[in-house]
Amino acid sequence: MSNWNGKTIIITGASSGIGEATAERFVKEGANVVLAARREDRLKELQDKLSGETGKAVYKKTDVTSEKEMKELAEFAINEFGQIDVLFNNAGLMPLSFMKNTKVDEWDKMVDVNIKGVLYGVAAVLPHMIERNEGHILTTSSVAGHEVMPTGAVYCGTKFAARIIMEGMGKELAESNIRTTSISPGVVQTELTDTITDEDAMSFLKDGVGLGSMTPLASEDIAEGVFYAVNQPAHVDVNEIIIRPTNQG
Ligand code: NDP
Repeated sequence: MSNWNGKTIIITGASSGIGEATAERFVKEGANVVLAARREDRLKELQDKLSGETGKAVYKKTDVTSEKEMKELAEFAINEFGQIDVLFNNAGLMPLSFMKNTKVDEWDKMVDVNIKGVLYGVAAVLPHMIERNEGHILTTSSVAGHEVMPTGAVYCGTKFAARIIMEGMGKELAESNIRTTSISPGVVQTELTDTITDEDAMSFLKDGVGLGSMTPLASEDIAEGVFYAVNQPAHVDVNEIIIRPTNQG
């Protein structure tokens, strides 16, 4: 029997990309996986696809920018499976743009999803984990949470914030059995760039930083990193993982 039988992981941003691949990875290990995102059709499709696997996947439509919905997501997981072992705060948006183009609504959205969404996730599960003196909270930061590039002033800012929130929380929880991890991917082939509306940014990314010729990672490559971090023995706390394509500078 796998270590994961009977354990529960909540994954936000599970309707596509890295979240979807991570859900698949954990269900195959026997875990109970709670899929969360806004696109209910995609969540239902994934739940159906995973129904024959060793573990169990269930979904709850959730907007991470709502503190209430995040609380309800945690309650749902506890009602379904009795406990929350892992929260993977993975939902994110990346509408890159130049500051001069003042895409204020997109700045707002990135702050709301990439920072406040993470905080609401923490608020929803941390009291439960403290009560059990056990648990693991992971957040998807990025290589962009380690270095800033033109068009990424706000996005990178949110990913730095997400990473630092994990690090600070980890320090506060050092005396407990609760672990924290930042996962920092490089370029991964997903739908993430669909949210870019700034044409200057699009041409900069294609011509200026050579993304056009890079071989991106697959979401499964990142899911493997998440699994590695979570699957360590209880005394091992993997705080940070950076995974980038070999040919990404
Ligand atoms: P996707 O666009 O495939 O996934 C983003 C996910 O976030 C979707 O499932 C989307 O679901 C969800 N999401 C967005 N807004 C909300 C919201 N308000 N509430 C709930 N869910 C939301 O891209 P990725 O898989 O690439 O992105 C996953 C994470 O990885 C993000 O945090 C991203 O910043 C990070 N990342 C990605 C990299 C890459 O190159 N792809 C590199 C580094 C980091 P829905 O729309 O259904 O709500």
